[in-house]
Amino acid sequence: MIVTAPSPKQLGRPPRVAILGAGISGLSAAYELSLGAQRQGRRLELMVLEASTRIGGKVTTESREGIIVEGGPDSFIGAKPEALELIDELGLSQEVIGTNPCRRPIQVLSGGRLESLPEFGLAPSSPWPWLASPLLSWRGKLRMCLEPLVPGEQGHQDESIASFFRRRLGAEALDKIFAPMFGGIYAGDCEKLSLQSTFPQLREMERKGGLLRSMQSAKRAPRPRSGFMTLRGGLTRLIEALARALPGGVVRAGAKVESVARRGGSWELGVNGELFKVDAVISALPAPAVSALLSDVDFELSCALREIPFVSTATVSLALERAQFKRPLQGFGFLIPRAEGRRIIGATFSSSKFPGRAPENTALIRCFVGGAGQEELAEAPDEEILRSVSAELKDILRMDSFKPALSRVFRWPKANPQYLVGHALKLKRIASCLQGHPGLWLTGCSFEGVSLPDCIRSGRRAGVQAFQWVCGRRHAGS
Ligand SMILES: Cc1cc2nc3c(=O)[nH]c(=O)nc-3n(C[C@H](O)[C@H](O)[C@H](O)COP(=O)(O)OP(=O)(O)OC[C@H]3O[C@@H](n4cnc5c(N)ncnc54)[C@H](O)[C@@H]3O)c2cc1C
Repeated sequence: MIVTAPSPKQLGRPPRVAILGAGISGLSAAYELSLGAQRQGRRLELMVLEASTRIGGKVTTESREGIIVEGGPDSFIGAKPEALELIDELGLSQEVIGTNPCRRPIQVLSGGRLESLPEFGLAPSSPWPWLASPLLSWRGKLRMCLEPLVPGEQGHQDESIASFFRRRLGAEALDKIFAPMFGGIYAGDCEKLSLQSTFPQLREMERKGGLLRSMQSAKRAPRPRSGFMTLRGGLTRLIEALARALPGGVVRAGAKVESVARRGGSWELGVNGELFKVDAVISALPAPAVSALLSDVDFELSCALREIPFVSTATVSLALERAQFKRPLQGFGFLIPRAEGRRIIGATFSSSKFPGRAPENTALIRCFVGGAGQEELAEAPDEEILRSVSAELKDILRMDSFKPALSRVFRWPKANPQYLVGHALKLKRIASCLQGHPGLWLTGCSFEGVSLPDCIRSGRRAGVQAFQWVCGRRHAGS
């Protein structure tokens, strides 16, 4: 790439790279850059600029009186190796814990009653456990069992998650099970979420003979480390370890990036009223934030970024003495289909899911509210969120009294990206605009996966690319 400004080498200083946002994506990018510099004996001036006074973005853990409350993510999936690899590199492997053993971890609210999901996975692996389940009518069960006979869709067109499951397993299985399950992960509307950009492996399974058949063979294959995992002290431990792995002074909290401008071959950032000149920029901000910053740099890029919608959610954690429950809690939590007409979209029994989340006599429950089509409650005042969630939870769990010893609301306004049908085309447009901006990379949850391993992968990839670019930069005339 030919750029006209003098290179850092010509200026007699190390290359300067700014990373915008100190969530898991930004910190992973900074870690990779710093690692590259160490390995190759290069000097780099790095700065991670974070608007909030706290780093970690959506990863936030609070510990009080032996209770560990996760405000955002509570676990990562082992089947995507990037989180475990990073944890290992950071020397935190001893702290990794898996879920408690449980045969039927998920329940679904059906006609006001909680019923166990016969098996938990991307799709059913066998008709038998489903035949005995009260979750589906006989008609619904029969339709699901016919899945291996449903012909596979030809072509490569994107479709919604809802359209896929309706085709393969029938409308009832979609509404009662798969829409709450997959919609819950993205806090989205399955009628609009893109299959290709959220769960492309489902389409692959369809091509290989159907969901039931593929799930059956996957069950037989050995899986090294899968399932959900977390860190003993909570996921903030990963953020702390990443920050510790960076040279002192690199992470600047309370540094809000207010403007981004192109100045010849470099970039100029406005931060808390000051201007910083850097050679390369990695944005790890959510798409709407980076869209606003780039509106004067590239209008088309800014518009393409704005087309990725975000929805609001909130998590409500409640610690209750176990004596208040008439029956022990079953499994790791429950999902609520839309037809049940509740405001909670799902709940995790955190103290059942992972060991050490609360003292023995305490149950820690985390409820989710908000998401596509039902954002109002997530945007309401804390007291209203708490009141609604407590009333529904008391009813669902059939409790006589409901006196939480601890309650904590975390709000995530316009924080959950929605990968809608056609998301891949938006990414292509963004990638094409970026070709005109050497020295600028975009990473984070808005693009190629929202999970922590996805964000780590995308952050580290941006770090590698930026390192190669700033260190191998060739300038006109040099
Ligand atoms: C409630 C909830 C539960 C979730 N549960 C899970 C889970 O269990 N497992 C899982 O794998 N994933 C989960 N996710 C998804 C995952 O947590 C996120 O996708 C991931 O943490 C996003 O990381 P990020 O670094 O891309 O973005 P963010 O964490 O949003 O970080 C972006 C950072 O940029 C900063 N910023 C914004 N504007 C500016 C500016 N102008 N200047 C400087 N800084 C700025 C923000 O303050 C923030 O710190 C969950 C998400 C939510 C909301």
